[in-house]
Amino acid sequence: MGTYLISVAIPVYNEAKQIYENINIIHKILTENNINHEFILVDDGSRDNTWEELKRLSVDLPNVLAIRLSRNFGKEAALCAALEAAHGDACVVMDSDLQHPPEIIPQMVRMWREEGYDVVEGVKSSRGKESITNKVGAHLFYSILKNLSGFNLDGASDFKLLDSKVVASWRIMPERNTFFRGMSAWLGYKRASIPFEVVERREGKSKWSTLKLFKLAITAITSFSSLPLHLVTLMGMLFLFCSIIMGIYTLYMKFRGLAVSGFTTVILLLLIIGSTLMISLGIIGTYIAKIFDEVKFRPRYIISEKATSKKTEHENIG
Ligand code: UDP
Ligand code: MG
Repeated sequence: MGTYLISVAIPVYNEAKQIYENINIIHKILTENNINHEFILVDDGSRDNTWEELKRLSVDLPNVLAIRLSRNFGKEAALCAALEAAHGDACVVMDSDLQHPPEIIPQMVRMWREEGYDVVEGVKSSRGKESITNKVGAHLFYSILKNLSGFNLDGASDFKLLDSKVVASWRIMPERNTFFRGMSAWLGYKRASIPFEVVERREGKSKWSTLKLFKLAITAITSFSSLPLHLVTLMGMLFLFCSIIMGIYTLYMKFRGLAVSGFTTVILLLLIIGSTLMISLGIIGTYIAKIFDEVKFRPRYIISEKATSKKTEHENIG
């Protein structure tokens, strides 16, 4: 076994049917590769038997820390809970459904140990079987994010190895609404990436509804850029310019005695200005809601229970 410890941080939500087996598969791969590891499994308020399964894992496997959140706080919050509890020399963040292939972890560890990378990211070489709307939505989202923030996250996933110093830097980022993928890119450090194929989920279906994805996209964009707010000002300036021209024209017509009733123009202008004002208010409102969320300074998650392994790694191998 290596002299270092890898924390494997996994958020788990309603995965009772597969979690026991999946963690055992990951455990087996890591043990075969002599990687000294601990599991940090966070039950994100599951409504099935996930917590019982996590407790079973903490009895059967060494070095498991299972954390139960008081309700479903969402994957980002569950990830925060896992990262905050990790105390390995490096931390591997991954999904519980084996869509992030654990076979890659030994390679990540090698690049971290031998080549001195601080962050080794799994990058999706294909998006797997996803609906057309999800694929188009993801593409659109990443291109907007890239233009607004300068970070190209296309293909980025939450499957990453982070050195403990990167985790420490991540911990001092205080925001309540987190976007792990973007925040870890923002941190910088020496980075490498490994492409991987997204395989089918072994059991159940994705927990991300289109609405949840849309909310995450809004969090990501508003955390990384205030450009939408500046667009509101730009739009205002454009309208001011148009209104000056139209104002001069209208006055000219009036003085020449050519003014006509102009009903259509008035209605169209009202509609355009009305909807633009509404959109602008909406954009400002989104940022204010974000500020409101942040200033409340509520914890990102609440832990209701914990379970730890009694077994040590040594007993298990022996
Ligand atoms: N997950 C979570 N809380 C949620 C939704 C998902 O902890 O509210 C976990 C889930 O158990 C899995 C990971 O986040 O380990 C990724 O979820 P999923 O496989 O549903 O997402 P996808 O692979 O479709 O992106
Ligand atoms: Mg998945």
